[in-house]
Amino acid sequence: MKLAAARLWATNRHPYLASAIFASPTLPAPGVGRLLVDRWWRVHADPEVVAGATVEQIGGELLHLTSHVLRDHASRADEIHLADQDELHHWVDAADAEIADDFAVDLARVSEVIRADDLDCPDGRLAEEYYRTGSVREGRRSDCGSGAHGTVAGWEQPPPDPDDPEADGPGGVSGDQQELIRRNVAAEIARADAAAVAAGLRRWAEQQLAPTIDWRAELAASVRREISAVAGAVDYSYRRPSRRAGSLGAVVLPAMQRPTVEVAVVCDTSASVSEEMLASAVAEVDGLLRAVGTRDVRVLACDDAVRVVRRASRGREVSLIGGGGTDMSVGIAEAMELRPRPGLVVVLTDGYTPWPDEPPPTKVVVGLLQQQTPVPGLAPVEPPAWARTIPIPGP
Ligand SMILES: [Zn+2]
Repeated sequence: MKLAAARLWATNRHPYLASAIFASPTLPAPGVGRLLVDRWWRVHADPEVVAGATVEQIGGELLHLTSHVLRDHASRADEIHLADQDELHHWVDAADAEIADDFAVDLARVSEVIRADDLDCPDGRLAEEYYRTGSVREGRRSDCGSGAHGTVAGWEQPPPDPDDPEADGPGGVSGDQQELIRRNVAAEIARADAAAVAAGLRRWAEQQLAPTIDWRAELAASVRREISAVAGAVDYSYRRPSRRAGSLGAVVLPAMQRPTVEVAVVCDTSASVSEEMLASAVAEVDGLLRAVGTRDVRVLACDDAVRVVRRASRGREVSLIGGGGTDMSVGIAEAMELRPRPGLVVVLTDGYTPWPDEPPPTKVVVGLLQQQTPVPGLAPVEPPAWARTIPIPGP
């Protein structure tokens, strides 16, 4: 009863945290002497502690523990590799200080409230910085559960398998669900009155909603993967270990030759594409193709505004596709006419284009330039599933 009331109290105070608070099941944990959250977002509450606390205190604990799992303090602790109990408790203090910054008024809690100044730090920092630079509180040991520091306690059973009908007890929140809830909460924060949300929490929400993919790394990985897939197909026999190698002893077998893969870059140079974005994308593709040793790259421009392409591709020949306009299917078809035929086509476009109905006989990687200002009266077309698409965020 009191736990339910505390949840309502907490969600009334901070409605943008409601989806996270309601996703966390609570479990009785006699003898633990406090409220804790585990890696699966389950709140373990000592019934005796709950009985002796006010609704506001329990509500404050729920807000605090929810903040630990929303801010993913467990995975962040994994990154730090806490070596012993002292480091673990220092991390919990650092994480607590980060959470304290998220609430303008100190939460009423059952456990002690730790702020940045308890660690002799200026506030508004991340837990990692509090951990690195904050002073260690001698002899004071906070614990908020494995949801705060990642180390699963012996009494804390992993949640039952959700697919097991015999499983009893409330399960936790799975990794995918956790991400979904984080994005949900971040979206709620973005919608909330800015004055009602602390600056640090607003920054957190912005980061959650920003594209998390490092498009450069992603694009490089995709291009390399496709090149080695094509190269592997061409050079299959050389990739198998030779069964004769052992018995022939010192005989030198032919060295594996790295087959070259022809690459074509099809650029959307129509007016809707920002020159700046296209230039940086072309330069990126050009650089990474040079890095993997691809020398012969053909650049095709699906319009006549090739200034930028010509500049960025450092003297590479740029072919104009006559009458293609901004139709990437024409650009891809044109690339297929090249001899030798490219094994990989990289398409750079903002997506305001038709796509081929049928997959072309080549690998296709699409760098999707995401425009800050949508084109009036037009909707971008989702690139087809047979292409590997990497969103490239705007500047
Ligand atoms: Zn805590």
